[in-house]
Amino acid sequence: MPVVEIIARYRKHNMLTKEEITALLESENPQTTSLLRDEADRLRQEYVGNGIHLRALIEFSNYCIRNCAYCGIRRDNKKLPRYRMSPQEIIKTAAEAAEKGFLSVVLQSGDDLTYGPQVLAEVIRENQKNRYRCNPECG
Ligand code: SF4
Repeated sequence: MPVVEIIARYRKHNMLTKEEITALLESENPQTTSLLRDEADRLRQEYVGNGIHLRALIEFSNYCIRNCAYCGIRRDNKKLPRYRMSPQEIIKTAAEAAEKGFLSVVLQSGDDLTYGPQVLAEVIRENQKNRYRCNPECG
């Protein structure tokens, strides 16, 4: 399917299939890059306009089961003091960030299996009740 049609479909349904995403990412056509850049800019304009949008970043755990060589919180770095926040602490800290004016919160951690999908879903649901955006990033 041509890129223009994929983007048109995205605009209409607000979703893409795995095959469409793969086609966009694998394309080496400069026109595809240009169309994707334009679409990203359109979405940025729609959601945040031209203002500077600051996000609060909450590093809720520095435990990680992975061992990426470049990363300070990799599993085998035994010198690092480790910590992890409880779900309640994460929710409370995110609420404090919202009170200070941050409109979105990035929740970041290493690949810490303590937080399963249900725990993360609960944290995100609670944050959304408080009407700010929540972007989880786990290692
Ligand atoms: S936090 Fe991410 S980059 Fe660092 S070791 Fe874990 S998986 Fe690798």
